[in-house]
Amino acid sequence: MDNRIKCPFCGYEGEPKDFEYMYESVLYMTNHEVLREERERPVLVICPRCRKGFFLEDPYSRIKEKG
Ligand SMILES: [Zn+2]
Repeated sequence: MDNRIKCPFCGYEGEPKDFEYMYESVLYMTNHEVLREERERPVLVICPRCRKGFFLEDPYSRIKEKG
């Protein structure tokens, strides 16, 4: 099974253990509506090369649904 993660910013590709992970709860403090989804906090993945964070899933598609 292909478990590799690819950074959408710099294109770095590696195994999950190569990346760092962060629960970016701070993002959600700005929007109280999202707080009820706390139990499925998305994990912010930090790219070891460019140090940018991104989500494995696409939480933005969920936000877009809300309009
Ligand atoms: Zn990167």
